[in-house]
Formats: sequence, C-alpha cells, structure tokens
Amino acid sequence: MTDRKTELARNLTAVEERIATACAAAGRKREEVTLIVVTKTYPADDVRLLHELGVRHVAENRDQDAAPKAAACSDLDLTWHFVGQLQTNKVRSVAGYADVVQSVDRLKLVNSLSAAAVRTGRELGCLIQVALDAESGHRGARGGVAPDGIEQLAAAVADAPALRLDGLMTVAPLAGPYAGRQRAAFERLMEFSSRLRSGHPAANMVSAGMSADLEDAVAAGATHVRIGTAVLGVRPRLG
Ligand SMILES: *Cc1c(COP(=O)(O)O)cnc(C)c1O
Repeated sequence: MTDRKTELARNLTAVEERIATACAAAGRKREEVTLIVVTKTYPADDVRLLHELGVRHVAENRDQDAAPKAAACSDLDLTWHFVGQLQTNKVRSVAGYADVVQSVDRLKLVNSLSAAAVRTGRELGCLIQVALDAESGHRGARGGVAPDGIEQLAAAVADAPALRLDGLMTVAPLAGPYAGRQRAAFERLMEFSSRLRSGHPAANMVSAGMSADLEDAVAAGATHVRIGTAVLGVRPRLG
C-alpha cells in the first residue's frame, strides 16, 4: 500500500470504531448508520483510494471542485452527496453528477433542481437542510431553512418532477441557543424528522454529525454522518 492509502485505512478504521462504539452505546445496529466521507479540497486520487478501502458514499461542497472530481471517478460505483450552499447557476452542473443534494433550503432551488434533473433524465435525492438557529423566514449563516419552513419546502420537493424527498440534514449551529449543544441540536432535528415522516414516510434520512460530533449524532438517531477531517486529515485550506 502507498503511504497515503495506509494513512486513509488507519483513519477509516478509527472512524469505523467510533461509529460502532456510538451505535453500541445507543443500542442501535451498526447498519443503521451510513458513513459519508467528505472529500472536499482533497484530490480525486484520494477518492479512488477511499473506494478501494470500501467507501461508497462521498460528499463535496463546491461544484467547481466536485464536478471534475466526479468526472475523474465516474467509473467507480460511488454515491455523490452535495452538501454545500448551492447557487442556482451551479444547479445544472451539480445535477449531472450528484445523487443526493443535502442542502436544499429554498423554493427557488427546488424549482431549478427539478428542471435540471428533468433535463438530465436523472432522479435527484433531496434533503431539506435545517438551520436550527435561523429565525422564521430567514436562512442560517451556513445555509439551511428555519424550522418553520421545513414543511413547505418538503411538500415542494415531494411534488417536483425528478426530485425525491429523502429527509433532513443539519450542521450543528455555532451560535444561538444550540451553540456547543450538539446533542440537543441533533435531538431537535430528530423531532423535525419524526414530524416530516408522518406525512412523508419514505423521507427517513437524517444527515447529522461531522468529525467532532458524530457520537452525538448517532446517539440522537442520525442515519448518515458526514466525516471529512477524521478520515482525510486537516484540510489544506478552508472549505
Ligand atoms: C466539511 C463538511 C463536513 C465534514 O466536516 P469535518 O469536520 O471535516 O468532518 C460535514 N458537513 C458539511 C456540510 C461540510 O461542509
């Protein structure tokens, strides 16, 4: 193995152990939690190594980086998640490679994602990104709809051609009442998920938890954790 592959393998093993331990502590089956490796800022070669090591879900947050990487890895059976704030002028590109867009947070985005998915002939999974610290009618600092906007957006996704409503996503807030209270934040997200599933039973994905707080997310009931740093290392630049 190359040095890099050895390093990634070691990091993956450590993350796998953390997830398994968190599942055991929460009385959950390990299969209930899917690891998504966030490969932003890292090269396509790393994505390839991760695939060799068994990773099947990867995430990116910027179309400029993601589009060429996805193209370079198009021979691999990977599920690509888009997790960044998304401008409508990037939607057409993202719809060409993303399987799931986790950052759906406004109606305009729903409409352009739907139009782009129809055009490319692909079905796009969508998660509503929830900003737990956003006031009614506003979006969060890192994207996301205020909690009272979830239902309307979910209905729009569910009705939109070529889109599939898969569930909810959040990033633990840095400010506001949930700052530093990841477990409480993720539990709140689970409440919104239960409410959502009562009207949309198939929308059962809950994407929460990153390198620093995956245990809190698994304890709360997340189905997907998004891990970057703990697998790939500290990012060379902001992203
Ligand atoms: C970068 C990023 C992650 C991964 O964060 P780490 O702390 O590196 O694990 C997860 N979710 C989103 C939305 C991100 O942008």
